[in-house]
Amino acid sequence: MISAMQQQLDFIAYIQRMLVEGEFTATYKYALLHAIADICVEQQNEDQSAPMEIKIDTLVDKFIQLYWNHSMPYAAHSTDIITNTEDMLLKQNSQGQAKFITEIYKLQNAGVKSYNAFKNYQQYNQVISSLRRTFIDGPLWRLQLLSGKEECFLYPHILLGKGREPKRIVLNAGISQCFRRFYDLVVHLSVTEWIEKVQTIKANQTLLGSQSQLQEFLFGSNRTALKVVTPLLIDIQNGLCFYCQKPMNLKNEKETKKTPEIDHFIPFKRYPNDLAHNFVAAHADCNNNKRDHLAAFAHRDRWLEQNLDIHKAEITNKLQPYFYCDADKSLAVSNWAYQVAESSSAKLWLGKNSFEQAKPTAELFTFPNAPQPELNQVAEPAVSLKSVDEALKLPYFPNIKIACGHFKTGDSSDVEYLDAPLGAGKLDPNVHFLARASGNSMNGGKHPILDGDLLLLELITSDRAGSLRGQIVAIERDDISGDGQYLLRKVNKLPNGQYELVAQNPDYEVMIADESMRTFARLKQVVL
Ligand SMILES: [Zn+2]
Repeated sequence: MISAMQQQLDFIAYIQRMLVEGEFTATYKYALLHAIADICVEQQNEDQSAPMEIKIDTLVDKFIQLYWNHSMPYAAHSTDIITNTEDMLLKQNSQGQAKFITEIYKLQNAGVKSYNAFKNYQQYNQVISSLRRTFIDGPLWRLQLLSGKEECFLYPHILLGKGREPKRIVLNAGISQCFRRFYDLVVHLSVTEWIEKVQTIKANQTLLGSQSQLQEFLFGSNRTALKVVTPLLIDIQNGLCFYCQKPMNLKNEKETKKTPEIDHFIPFKRYPNDLAHNFVAAHADCNNNKRDHLAAFAHRDRWLEQNLDIHKAEITNKLQPYFYCDADKSLAVSNWAYQVAESSSAKLWLGKNSFEQAKPTAELFTFPNAPQPELNQVAEPAVSLKSVDEALKLPYFPNIKIACGHFKTGDSSDVEYLDAPLGAGKLDPNVHFLARASGNSMNGGKHPILDGDLLLLELITSDRAGSLRGQIVAIERDDISGDGQYLLRKVNKLPNGQYELVAQNPDYEVMIADESMRTFARLKQVVL
């Protein structure tokens, strides 16, 4: 096994070689690099050092997203009178046109106005199918041909190639972590070279103007659609700037510094895709001062509360026609951005010219009046945890049943040791433990939890708390005899400050957290 650091160096070297030695007549290799990088950030992979699976259809969908704006007529600097708008499409292949562009152009002419509209298009599956072959035979296979020879550093080629029908690729162990770590660099390189390629294609010369305009056209944020975001966010924020919380100037246009502007909460430069839940309204000067910095943790928590919690549905409803709406994806992207910032000790923007150092927060989330020491007391298993020598073992508490339904009594007097599940990331027997689910209330949604499932849980301690909003959490309370009772629910904060505990199975009613309850452990995953 090579070390993670060596692998990261090899990764950078490989990407550099790929850009030089790869042979492409179309711009697909840039799109594929960009696509894989995006997916690594958007798709939560619990264990970042493990191999990561990506569905071919997810990649094809991502290609359509990336090429969407590229498939509109480019008119900026054209002096010739062009009557056929198809002639105003920039060529993305030196020998004709890239098939993705042609197909997306057709879609747009059939009335599908945005990528988000395409996601809900009734012929979505047919479109994906029609482009899958092109994708598999072209970029997926060719990306890793360096100077004509296969070098499968990113993913194995087994099952790829002409005539095959692969459903997925699997990124080699550690590769998704490299993409997350070096996302900015990979995307910047691929976009820069992509633009250069478009400029050098002869057939594009008559259409093209300056590079800055081309960049804005191909990779800019959708400025026109941003106009619809402003009134919504002004309303949600009661006219206050998201960052400094002071009133924005909604009337006097002379004082432009205080005029509301739309800011990408996770900066567009960091993650160049418009996601509806990523917008906040801020003073022009606050926005300019923040530039491409990530905002401080206090702002992050407020953003989570405003856009992913209280106003989540409203934002989706209002912005759906214009922007891609996926609150889970927004959350995954922000988690990624803050993780990278923490690991590189980046400076986070607090306010005008002031910064804080990115380090893990110690914000502990508890329900009102939950006594902190008690939490730790009960959380600590009664037996001492041995240090583990060979294969990592985790404590398993057969008598604790994490109830999926109603609170169930359990105790931690009995403990066994089981092998730590593979692919679950860094585990620590002092923090991570196993227990079984019991009941049916979490049997629903995208990731159902079934009666009897073995759960990998992480104790919530003051040094690994973070925000628990939207997460699945084991909640504890004492029964009359003083024994612990445990319940698994998703936690949401309500506008009135209370917390609601939501079951994934709609047959179970939402509970409101009360003072007797404490957050005990967060669910890491169901062990298969
Ligand atoms: Zn402000």
